[in-house]
Amino acid sequence: MPTYRAPRGTRDLLPTETPLWTRLERLAADIAARYGYRRIETPVFEQTDIFERGIGEVTDVVEKELFRLAPRTEESESWALRPEPTAGIVRAYVQHGMRTWPQPVKLVQTGPMFRYDRPQAGRYRQFWQFDVEAIGDPGPAVDAEIIELGTHFYREAGLAGVEVLLNSIGDPACRPAYVAELAAYFEPHRAELPAIERGRLDRNVLRLLDSNDPAMAVINAKAPRITDRLCSACEEHFAAVRAHLDAVGVPYRLAPGLVRGLDYYTRTAFEFYVTGREGQQQALAGGGRYDGLVELLGGRPTPGIGFGIGLDRLVLALIETGVAAPAEAAPAAVVVGANPDDTIARLQVVTRLRAAGISSRAELGRRKLGKQLEAAARDGAHFAVILGDELTGGGVALRDLSAGTQKVVALTDLAREIERAHAAHRHGGGAA
Ligand code: AMP
Repeated sequence: MPTYRAPRGTRDLLPTETPLWTRLERLAADIAARYGYRRIETPVFEQTDIFERGIGEVTDVVEKELFRLAPRTEESESWALRPEPTAGIVRAYVQHGMRTWPQPVKLVQTGPMFRYDRPQAGRYRQFWQFDVEAIGDPGPAVDAEIIELGTHFYREAGLAGVEVLLNSIGDPACRPAYVAELAAYFEPHRAELPAIERGRLDRNVLRLLDSNDPAMAVINAKAPRITDRLCSACEEHFAAVRAHLDAVGVPYRLAPGLVRGLDYYTRTAFEFYVTGREGQQQALAGGGRYDGLVELLGGRPTPGIGFGIGLDRLVLALIETGVAAPAEAAPAAVVVGANPDDTIARLQVVTRLRAAGISSRAELGRRKLGKQLEAAARDGAHFAVILGDELTGGGVALRDLSAGTQKVVALTDLAREIERAHAAHRHGGGAA
């Protein structure tokens, strides 16, 4: 037999790990609701063209990292797994005529993304993002709102020392001249550039600025800065975003080299890092404004802004900083039986308890009562419901496993009794 394993760059999230994930997903949903962002779900694959057009063909994400699906027939559309959520969400915005909805349309999505990248710590081929988008508002206030949402999310997630790096990368009015100037600046350095950066010089010169190659640091330090070359509209927008962030007390650090890997960004660009980790290309989250994207994907000119919070890296950071994972929930009750063979009675009773909303499990195997009780205690259950001789009279023994007390309760009162005692127990700060 071959030994099967999860594909390289992917992993299984085991029940020992998922309580933390569940907590973060609930927090994401809760924050989204508080901020008035509504959930959308788009497919995990789309027409390849959406990514090629939307993200840009000369980007790592499209050139090297796109998971392209093999066409099934000659007529098949060409599909790819989504490497990021924005292009798909904007496709949905156009397809469903969301421009007729009240603007901006504020959307969130949490789900897996796929990039055929070289796997390493914090970089996977399947990873999860909590993604936030506001489409139909040119900002600047919504830019600050969305960045503030990010800082708020990390705060409530329990991760300290998170820093916002902020930049403006201009728009089609001012960026082309800057890009030309940048290319002219790098040209005399061509021979000194690392091979990969030399290739980018001819195709996407902006990318040289966010290179993490130490050899680039000196050259980049003297490169012209986009923020010194913004047109007045972009300059004004950028100043206003900063003023709004200041007004709501969100600290940020200006990062003139932050250009983001995807083509569609305009003006505001930002990333979240654990302070001190910026050099390692280990952004916790990243995003920006994409005022040209809706039009690029077939809609009318519509501004938009959004960002993706990487959940995998957040989980790693939380574990690293020792933030305790939430305990796995213990059942309120475990139903056990003196007659190991009577699985029908145990299943009936647990079914009634669950119907009454009580988290419970029954021993459905045939081990002896002593073993069943041991397992119930190991589960951390508050109560054991013991089915024994009392059953003929319509009663069961209810044992409080933490208090060590026991009494007979009528089956008809069982759910009410457990609920009452369990609620009191929880309020008293008990373990269950
Ligand atoms: P990006 O669109 O590349 O800025 O990605 C946004 C966020 O998603 C990043 O800041 C990371 O937290 C996360 N992310 C991106 N690529 C990966 C990956 N290969 N593995 C894990 N997380 C990733």
